[in-house]
Amino acid sequence: MDISIGSDHHSTVEENVDGGVDPSLIRALPEFEFELGEKGSVNCAICLSEFECKEVVKKIPFCGHVFHPKCIEMWLLDHPSCPLCRSAKLFIPQPVHHTFNGLALLKGWLRLS
Ligand SMILES: [Zn+2]
Ligand SMILES: [Zn+2]
Repeated sequence: MDISIGSDHHSTVEENVDGGVDPSLIRALPEFEFELGEKGSVNCAICLSEFECKEVVKKIPFCGHVFHPKCIEMWLLDHPSCPLCRSAKLFIPQPVHHTFNGLALLKGWLRLS
């Protein structure tokens, strides 16, 4: 007897983060409207089409390269680095903030109430 019930293979795509960037990190990349005349690249290095004025683009803060949001999202899911300069860093490291700001905020808040 050949009984093959529930023979679904383990094909969990979500678990596969090998080589790619965490989707939440990709989503955290800043988006802005492309301005013509802005210095830097004028076309998307992934699909090779030129950016249009006011087109929404996604920027890698660390190297400053910009791409179509969909292009760079697809790319970073498979590759851990910028398609242009191969920089594995996406974000500029932020200096650790002291609790000073939070405290000042809290004090101001207390004064208000
Ligand atoms: Zn593109
Ligand atoms: Zn780059």
